Amino acid sequence: MKKPGIAVAVIAAVALAAFLIYDGFFNKTASLTFFAMDTVISGEIIGADSEKCADEIKSAIVRLDSDILSRHSDKSAVALLNKNRGGKVSPEFRNYLGILIDVSRKSGGKFDFTLGAVSDLWSFTSNPAVPEAEALADAVTSSGYEKISVSGDTVSFESENLIIDFGAAGKGIALDEIRTILDGKNVREATVSVGGSVLIYGGKEKAVGIRNPFSNAGDHIAKITVSDVCISTSGSYERRFEENGKEYHHILDPETGYPVENNLVSVTVVSESGALSDCLSTACFVLGVEDGMKLAKEYGCEAILVTSDKKIYATHGIFTSTEITDSGYTLIEYEN
Ligand code: AMP
Ligand code: MG
Repeated sequence: MKKPGIAVAVIAAVALAAFLIYDGFFNKTASLTFFAMDTVISGEIIGADSEKCADEIKSAIVRLDSDILSRHSDKSAVALLNKNRGGKVSPEFRNYLGILIDVSRKSGGKFDFTLGAVSDLWSFTSNPAVPEAEALADAVTSSGYEKISVSGDTVSFESENLIIDFGAAGKGIALDEIRTILDGKNVREATVSVGGSVLIYGGKEKAVGIRNPFSNAGDHIAKITVSDVCISTSGSYERRFEENGKEYHHILDPETGYPVENNLVSVTVVSESGALSDCLSTACFVLGVEDGMKLAKEYGCEAILVTSDKKIYATHGIFTSTEITDSGYTLIEYEN
């Protein structure tokens, strides 16, 4: 009678040990927190290769910033193009530039990645101040995505003082780079945020909060439940200052050079592509509710637009996955 009891105990012990080894291996969790691209990058990766991925992600994003996107690096593709007024670019850069040009065109120029000189006059990252009207008008005249031409691997500038700036797209591009790293590895799920852009990797659904645009406390007004997507938010609350009783924020109208003034306070775009979610969150913000929703539809992306009168417009595809968490807001399905 004793032997079956021992056998059961042995089997149970072996099963437990196997489970613990399996669990420890496949559910290995790595956390990620570092500063790059002028923002905090943080996340959690679960899977046998999680630690390896965390290391690779860190070096890839530091490289993306210093070698490709940063305007303030002495060797990045963007900085060299600005300095040399054009030049040859890598296929990787050409691909991202293609997305930015496409969004610039489809938004009718309301998204414009050539506003570097205009942004600089506002100094949002150092000592923000309202620029001289004349200097701003000159910078606006020199800017314009249509003054950039691309032929094969060569980019040409057709304006003296134009400065390209990937500020509206860089964090989303980082998510695409991160996804490529995770794709080739043994990773079950991951959540990585790069500033206002988040990658939800793997089939498991996760809730992502929509930030309260009227508070600095980082609290949320709604949440969306999604899997395997990139989510980017552009908000007038992100970089702003007050001068003579008036508020100014960092999302600019390319026609005037001044911050966009419409009834939007934040725009969230959900897409498989990080580059696209980031470009479109900025583009839709500038376009306003009606034209912004049209652009999101044109790209087949879902969007959540928050207005100053506390309405949350959600496209059909994300509406049922959106839940209000602050009763002061009203959720409305946008018929596009
Ligand atoms: P985001 O937070 O992704 O909406 O990006 C905002 C950043 O994009 C700003 O800080 C500027 O560097 C840049 N930017 C501002 N206005 C525009 C615009 N109309 N089109 C493209 N980029 C812009
Ligand atoms: Mg953006």
